[in-house]
Amino acid sequence: MGPRGGRGLYVGRRTAALLAALLLALLAALLALAALYGRCRQEAPTPPSPSPAAPGFAAPPGPAAAVGSGRRLPRQLLPLHYDLELWPRVRPGQAGPFTFSGQVNITVRCRQDTDTAVLHSSGLRSLRADVRGPLPGMGTAVEVAELRQEVAGELAVLELRGRLRAGRRYVLQLGFEGRLEEDLDGLFLTRYTDQGRSRQQGIRRYPCPVPGSHSLAQSSSWPHTCLCSTGSSLPPLPASVGSTQHLKYVFGHEFKDVNPMQFQSMLIASQLEPTYARTVYPCFDEPAMKATFNIRIVHDPSYVALSNMPAIDVSEMADENGSLWTVTTFNTSLKMSTYLTAFVVCDFDYVTRTERGNEIRIWARKEAVRNGYVDYALNITGPIFSFLEDLLNVSYPLPKTDLVALPEFGAGAMENWGLITFQESSLLYLPSDKFTSRKAMIAIIMSHELGHQWFGNLVTMNWWNDLWLNEGLTSYFEYLGATFVEPKLSLDKIFYDHVVQPVLREDNEIGVRSLSESEDKIKDSFALMSLFDSITYNKGASITWMLSCFLSEKLFIRALTLYLEEFSFSNANQDDLWTHIQMVVDAQDEVQLPASVKQIMDSWTCQNGFPVLTLNLTTGTISQEQFLNKKNENSTDSYNNTWIIPISWMRNGSSQPLLWLDKSSKVFPEMQVSESEYDWILLNVNLSGYYRVNYDQLNLKRLARLLENDPKAIPAVSRIQLIDDAFALTQFGYIEIETALELTKYLAKEDELFIWNVVLSNLVPKNLESTLKNYELYPLLKKYLLKRMLPIYHYYASFIHQNVDALEDDYFAQLYLEKLFGTACWLGLQDCLNLSSELYAKWMDNPDYKIPFLIRRTVCCYGVAVGSDKEWNFAWEMYNHSDTTKEDKDILLSAMSCARESWLLYRYLQYGLSNTLFSSNCTPNVILYVATKDIGHRIAWEFVTENWPLLSERYGKELLYEVLKVMGRFVNTDVQIQELQVFYNATLEEDERVAITLLLEFTKVENMGRRELFIKAANWLQKNVDD
Ligand SMILES: [Zn+2]
Repeated sequence: MGPRGGRGLYVGRRTAALLAALLLALLAALLALAALYGRCRQEAPTPPSPSPAAPGFAAPPGPAAAVGSGRRLPRQLLPLHYDLELWPRVRPGQAGPFTFSGQVNITVRCRQDTDTAVLHSSGLRSLRADVRGPLPGMGTAVEVAELRQEVAGELAVLELRGRLRAGRRYVLQLGFEGRLEEDLDGLFLTRYTDQGRSRQQGIRRYPCPVPGSHSLAQSSSWPHTCLCSTGSSLPPLPASVGSTQHLKYVFGHEFKDVNPMQFQSMLIASQLEPTYARTVYPCFDEPAMKATFNIRIVHDPSYVALSNMPAIDVSEMADENGSLWTVTTFNTSLKMSTYLTAFVVCDFDYVTRTERGNEIRIWARKEAVRNGYVDYALNITGPIFSFLEDLLNVSYPLPKTDLVALPEFGAGAMENWGLITFQESSLLYLPSDKFTSRKAMIAIIMSHELGHQWFGNLVTMNWWNDLWLNEGLTSYFEYLGATFVEPKLSLDKIFYDHVVQPVLREDNEIGVRSLSESEDKIKDSFALMSLFDSITYNKGASITWMLSCFLSEKLFIRALTLYLEEFSFSNANQDDLWTHIQMVVDAQDEVQLPASVKQIMDSWTCQNGFPVLTLNLTTGTISQEQFLNKKNENSTDSYNNTWIIPISWMRNGSSQPLLWLDKSSKVFPEMQVSESEYDWILLNVNLSGYYRVNYDQLNLKRLARLLENDPKAIPAVSRIQLIDDAFALTQFGYIEIETALELTKYLAKEDELFIWNVVLSNLVPKNLESTLKNYELYPLLKKYLLKRMLPIYHYYASFIHQNVDALEDDYFAQLYLEKLFGTACWLGLQDCLNLSSELYAKWMDNPDYKIPFLIRRTVCCYGVAVGSDKEWNFAWEMYNHSDTTKEDKDILLSAMSCARESWLLYRYLQYGLSNTLFSSNCTPNVILYVATKDIGHRIAWEFVTENWPLLSERYGKELLYEVLKVMGRFVNTDVQIQELQVFYNATLEEDERVAITLLLEFTKVENMGRRELFIKAANWLQKNVDD
């Protein structure tokens, strides 16, 4: 499935060693804060910079609080087959609460004599338990003395009066009941509106509720998206159907006082990975305990039921009151893990197509199907299936695949075998949407889930500690599949941008875990949930890319085919993969490795972090060490990790034979460079290794000069690596900022937006825009950067002026043009400000005009910024317009904080207090937006302090915590902290005060460190600004 949860708190690391002690104290304090402000996880709203939704997985909820500690099961009994009946007691239009009941008969093989049967069960009420056997004697019973639930262990324990005998088979029979919640885990219920259905029912449209008329102040889900906006997981709907999403919020969970039953449809779906199967039926809920399943679902006759296998029978039955239910029976499944079983009961429509005998059906709300939103998914599913089948040379073993777009879903998507579930936004595509970024995202997510049909479903990891065998391998293949169906996407660029670059930024903390953990470390459900992170997905995929590079794709795929064939319908661990690769390597002599596959790969998967290679090309010496923060002296002591590193390299534009660095340092005579300044070396070509490179000054100068003369001599992905590595090396104390800046001189000739995005993200981080402006750096940066940005700015501005649709296939423009334009306007480029005014004025003249979405945030912000109260008032009017989408509302909410006149900002904040002007749960967002602006932060602080009694009553102390976090960005002195302290000392409890003070102290030291960096950068720019 898509990654769940983040990697937790990220604390910046630019500070000096003296921070170590402070950091510890801070962490302790933050733990206290986390307990106090458990709901403060969501980021403060961001300043007016990017960005259209980047592809990837929609933000999922964190680890479910309901998950208990769980326990591993004893191995005396192994499941062979389940007969499972589920009966969700749901009728359309019925009010809750809802329950489901079920019966499961599990055939088990006894491996060792025992008088207890232990299986997983959580949150279920077990009604009865019987044990039959030994088989074939179903008539014989083994008497159950006691059926016991162990809540913490998530177990059901059957104490037996007789013994089960080794080598014999028995049937455990359990009847059970459970609650059907709307929590998106286990078996859950979702309410939604469907225009396709509701029109027939004569649905009424309701306006947005009057702010303040609901008890929003007591809403438990702050901070969150402001209500009264569309909250859509759908692609933007055309105006004619835009109201349906509106209804969802009017009648959704937040508005319990409106009778929802009258207007809504309901569906039941499941999400069982990793350990929720046990909340739906008692089972042996471990991935290696595979079995076959006969599934039967009892449901209302107006619904259709789906499960992993095709339905083979639909019949009727009457309940105890004589009312009729439908019973849908599914064919026997293949041998599979419990977490992959799946159930959907809905009244969706579908479209269908058959690919090589595999019946593919895409299910969605009737309205979405009718409007063609599922057509793109249908068009690409079959081709990706065939692509993967051909590539892996292993057939997809099921006769059908259902793909279901769920209006509400916690994970981005889930790969259940034969019944894949998606968030609507991961599957539905508006045919009129011309731009490819959403298509690309759907293709990527689709490929990911289809990849799982082999990696995860056919062959499953033995235990969750090797989750990367599921998720890492699949995250690699998702890009192969996506670029196959969308060939305009550039595989290596998108892979670096989406996978390698983000995880390199994360995988350098001391506490970061290794990719594969030892089995005994991953015991409880919490440890297990934390594995669904960027290390598993992105590092797993990066390591896979490296493996494929040094083996050659041909050998790599051949080994995977062997591995898939060997472990089909079974389980494997990491060593099994290495063994099968080794077999393929041993059977040929083209590719020679310096050590066994296991030795090489264990160095990457069993150690945390990654190496940085330091070069001395005068001698040809390359050394390696773990990439850690040099500024933090404690960090380097205890880590002597070494990796066996494949080095792909290029000399003066020609690719060279692969080399290996298998110890801490080694001399490569072939890498010595001559006196000639045209003799240069480039490492890590084609992204072939998961590491950073620290070049010596001599080579770096030559590369910088080469970039200035002929940037295309270095492949685009290598250019971005050079720059990304240089800034990361600066940040971690390996090199000085001046060295990184040398590599930016060529940028006037850089036409790749994804490279510009990395440069700008390093030079103008979006949450520092306002603070950067206060320093001597800004005018220099303005002059230096604008000169270099002009060519690419004008290139894209001409499209915006003349034909924005021509950017339809420019994927990175859809992701990063906003950053480029936002920075240009921030730097005061007159062209950019004029463009913003012009497009904004055009919108004011004609509210039906659509500002190109690629730069809508920038245009609205600077349209308001360079305008007067007239422009601001228009933004306010459009914000309150009922047809405005949620995304546009957020853009406008942010744009109104861009005003440069203090009184407008003050009035804006005052609006936030009003009971009638504003949906009041937007107020925190308004305050935070204003607080991030250099003009606004003092005004916002004064506003918060003056109105604290009212604000704290409505939003609690959480708001103050969020505001102080933003204020921290502006803190450089103790006096500034004391100013803030005067206020919060009077409002917070002592432990809260301590935590906040430490946070501010820490931020201050960070800010001071950053200021030193700014001074260095300013000095360098002073010397180079006229070049
Ligand atoms: Zn996945």
